[in-house]
Amino acid sequence: MTSLDEWVLHGDEMRRPLLVNPKISESTKLVIVGAGLSGLCCAYRIAKKRPDLEIILHEKSSKFGGVISTWKENEWLCDVAVNATRPHPAFWRLIDDLNLNSFFKTSNPFAKSRWVLLDGKRHKLSWRTIFKIGPIKLLRSVKRSRNGGISVSELIPNKQIADAMCLGIVNDTSENVDADFLFPSLTKFGENPPIKKSKLNKLISETYPIFTPKKGSIASIEGGMQTLIDAVVSEITKLENVTIIHDSSAESPESIAKACQVGMESVLWTVPLGKDQSSSEISIYAVGYKQEQVSHIEKGYGTLIPDTKLPISGILHESDVHQSQRSPAGHRLFRLMVPHSRWDKDDSSVKKCAESLIAPNPEIFAKIGVREIPKYEPGHMSRMEEMETPCSYAGWCYSGVSITHVVDESERIADLF
Ligand SMILES: Cc1cc2nc3c(=O)[nH]c(=O)nc-3n(C[C@H](O)[C@H](O)[C@H](O)COP(=O)(O)OP(=O)(O)OC[C@H]3O[C@@H](n4cnc5c(N)ncnc54)[C@H](O)[C@@H]3O)c2cc1C
Repeated sequence: MTSLDEWVLHGDEMRRPLLVNPKISESTKLVIVGAGLSGLCCAYRIAKKRPDLEIILHEKSSKFGGVISTWKENEWLCDVAVNATRPHPAFWRLIDDLNLNSFFKTSNPFAKSRWVLLDGKRHKLSWRTIFKIGPIKLLRSVKRSRNGGISVSELIPNKQIADAMCLGIVNDTSENVDADFLFPSLTKFGENPPIKKSKLNKLISETYPIFTPKKGSIASIEGGMQTLIDAVVSEITKLENVTIIHDSSAESPESIAKACQVGMESVLWTVPLGKDQSSSEISIYAVGYKQEQVSHIEKGYGTLIPDTKLPISGILHESDVHQSQRSPAGHRLFRLMVPHSRWDKDDSSVKKCAESLIAPNPEIFAKIGVREIPKYEPGHMSRMEEMETPCSYAGWCYSGVSITHVVDESERIADLF
């Protein structure tokens, strides 16, 4: 495969380091630790490609999917973690291979608008936002970022906008987040593509199965992301060369290699690095209203809230965004993101804030989950690039946070076999 072929398959993911021991493909038995989306996709892709290879998938809990799950109550439905995907052909290929085409739809085109609450006023994110940031300042900081290792607050010289972007993706404020990790194509981290970006994008857009997504659109799955997890698990359980071990926590790559009697090169670790990796916590709430209670709220994707005095950092318009149903007819559903760093741990403070930002007396108000999110401090990507790989590492703790990264990375790893 030429470098251009790889760029067409993986796009900007090629900038992100692949943390694999090259001898992984010589394994006769492969041990994958973690059955989140990453471990599941790696097991699925590698096991399909190499039916002769014995694969053991170790998961510490009794469920699959890791942080991904979908909450349901009567006709209300809400994803606890990721709810949609942005365009990437690897994700489309996965949906196609799992025969989920009829469940997979582009998001509602009328629900594209995103806002940021700046000093109490809603600002719609668009190309005009550049003027809020300051185009000359931004140009200078983008140039400076190419030396590597800077934070997002240094890259985007408007603290509130930079914080909003980081909170919306990694639940952290911008001075704590690595710019190379969040925006590698802007900071030009890693290798550059062999042809012009516009030509490459055209070639990539021709490779999507199912449908070619519009620029800036997102797509989601009927029944929420749990539908995807159930489909991968169903495929894996049909494969004779994969054994799943539940309720089994691996202490370290070394201990699992010893317990399974394989060399370190045969361990694929898709879970955090233990005490060496810090994280932050977030609670997630679903709040639903009758249509007439919230008719003053414009249809859209959602609002980011950088103001640390409020417990809610983001309001996502779940029932506006997806083409599949998320609320009973005549109702709307919103998802609230509540970082623990700015919350007094009292549900009533979240409800009070939601009522002031959306509308009083919701029909439904439910805490639907708590999640831990890895931290990606400035210099993170350079550290990943230099990391030693006695075993291999994959998943959102390492060189990318999104599901498109996790899904694409599993293809890149399977390509080595
Ligand atoms: C609130 C929230 C919102 C998100 N929104 C988006 C979004 O809009 N778009 C997007 O692209 N991405 C989003 N993400 C990120 C996305 O969900 C992740 O990229 C992806 O699910 C990570 O999968 P993973 O397998 O790498 O990790 P995980 O899901 O964390 O899976 C790791 C698995 O390993 C298991 N495990 C852990 N330690 C051990 C051990 N020692 N031994 C054995 N097993 C172990 C865990 O139980 C778990 O099952 C969001 C995440 C959260 C939390």
